[in-house]
Amino acid sequence: MTTMFDCIIVGAGPAGGAAAYHLAKRGHSVLVLEKDTWPRQKPCGGGVSPAIAQWFDFDFTPAISTTVKKIRYTWKLSDPVETEIVKPMWMVRRDVFDQFLMQQAVDVGAKLQTQTEVTGIKFKSDRWQVNTNAEPLEAKYLIAADGTKGPMAKWLGLKQSKLRQSLIAEFPVSGQIPTFEFGMVKNGSIWGFPKADSYSISIATFRGSEPKDLSKDLTQYANKMGMAASNSMVDHPICLWDGDKTLHTQNALIAGDAASLADPLSAEGIRPSILSGVKAAEAIDQALGGASNALEKYTQIIQKEWGADMVWAGNLAGLFYRFPGIGYKVGVKVPVATQLISKILCGELRYADVIDKAKKSLSPF
Ligand SMILES: Cc1cc2nc3c(=O)[nH]c(=O)nc-3n(C[C@H](O)[C@H](O)[C@H](O)COP(=O)(O)OP(=O)(O)OC[C@H]3O[C@@H](n4cnc5c(N)ncnc54)[C@H](O)[C@@H]3O)c2cc1C
Repeated sequence: MTTMFDCIIVGAGPAGGAAAYHLAKRGHSVLVLEKDTWPRQKPCGGGVSPAIAQWFDFDFTPAISTTVKKIRYTWKLSDPVETEIVKPMWMVRRDVFDQFLMQQAVDVGAKLQTQTEVTGIKFKSDRWQVNTNAEPLEAKYLIAADGTKGPMAKWLGLKQSKLRQSLIAEFPVSGQIPTFEFGMVKNGSIWGFPKADSYSISIATFRGSEPKDLSKDLTQYANKMGMAASNSMVDHPICLWDGDKTLHTQNALIAGDAASLADPLSAEGIRPSILSGVKAAEAIDQALGGASNALEKYTQIIQKEWGADMVWAGNLAGLFYRFPGIGYKVGVKVPVATQLISKILCGELRYADVIDKAKKSLSPF
């Protein structure tokens, strides 16, 4: 007889791990299906806002590779700004971080099944049948946390994410500070984040049509920085938030990158993935308890707690990348602006608060 789970979560990244932890902690039977071998490498800069700690009752220290207290910006490799940030930011290796989070979920009762690819889903009047490369499984509810490349959004009939090209390369150097390079790529940026014993350089565009190939830009930049051109360049698409969308359907929710929640100005995706995983778990817990509108409310909560601010991030990204030279001078270089940006990155401030402050300071005019 097939075991019936309260919830099957597809994908063991930050969204899936956060959801699994909070559902298992509430006593529900949870199965996480992950197609890759585990722990898996996720191409990612690994900059994490310490604000995520507020959603958990355990200490993330073992999952942090290093913390950083400064960030640096340049415009076409010159005109640099270096600034202290309000709170140390975490830099993580994603294989370690994702495994740590998932282990916390397993410790409170979640089941993780790796090398198990979901190959199809079917709703059967009151439950989901989940087909895999192994045996079919069943659950009352589903969470799609299968990232940018996963098939779940399409299968659930929800809006699919728009993919943007992005590349990352890792170099065995230490002692670097997080750096954002502007003006090197049209409509985009390059960002370098340190780990304890390495430095990863990511590149992406944030608006406009896709460039043909970003690998040349990344290689050129790495060479200029004195880092040997790497043959370990990996491409992995990013999905930036591009408007609120429905994140629920019959007995199922979508979370994290699969729901395109990443910040369209900074590409920060880990924090919104975790936020959505936490909120998805709360919604399914309520639905299992009989609340008929809990899944619908999940869409509304994510719109209110994340989407509303991403409207501003999207507007700022549009403005900044249209006039990046001016944006750098008046928006990035000014000391008060760098402090505000660092507060946003640390989760201390929302874009809406920044806009409010700007409106107030301009009000006499
Ligand atoms: C180059 C680059 C740099 C980045 N840098 C940062 C950064 O510094 N900070 C930050 O906050 N964000 C960054 N991001 C974004 C961040 O990596 C993502 O937002 C985050 O990983 C999303 O987490 P997730 O749990 O939604 O999905 P993922 O972490 O992608 O996890 C999804 C999981 O689902 C699994 N899966 C997919 N399909 C199936 C299937 N059919 N069956 C079973 N399993 C399946 C996948 O194997 C994967 O493990 C970066 C992204 C890129 C591409």
